[in-house]
Amino acid sequence: MNDCIFCKILAGEIPSVRVHEGPNAVAFLDVNPMAKGHVLVVPRRHWADLASVPVSEAGDVAAFSELMHTVRAIAKAAIRAGWDGANVLQCTGESAGQTVGHLHFHVIPRRAGGPVPPAFESGAGRYESDAERDAVAAKLREAIAAVFAEEQLY
Ligand code: AMP
Ligand code: ZN
Repeated sequence: MNDCIFCKILAGEIPSVRVHEGPNAVAFLDVNPMAKGHVLVVPRRHWADLASVPVSEAGDVAAFSELMHTVRAIAKAAIRAGWDGANVLQCTGESAGQTVGHLHFHVIPRRAGGPVPPAFESGAGRYESDAERDAVAAKLREAIAAVFAEEQLY
């Protein structure tokens, strides 16, 4: 993945301010932070986004698990370090605002009384009717069941 900026960071070819290095996940400061302490948590394996994470090999599952625990631990650590809370943000796909094609989770520490977190306009997806809502839920339910069955999850 020679043209991936985060792979280059992981390889040490581009500088970064690292705050954690695990066997499968690394965390470094975002170069354009939404708040002080804004961290990006990335897998060492190049996965483009959440939809691209392979789950058939135990090694990939373990690596993904470590990634998620790293996100959890960094949010906890932000509070231990004196912040009051944290937003966790993940963008899968350009339509969702993803600009770097290597899976990453944003952990953005927050302070009580600080600026309101970036707006994900609440209510912008309001349904026209209960019938429309139920149709969307049914469509999701079917797709989710298919993914769980396909991946033999739980
Ligand atoms: P996203 O919009 O979720 O794809 O976020 C990509 C993030 O990567 C943005 O917050 C950028 O500021 C950040 N970013 C891009 N290049 C670098 C870099 N070289 N070092 C640290 N963070 C970066
Ligand atoms: Zn990459």
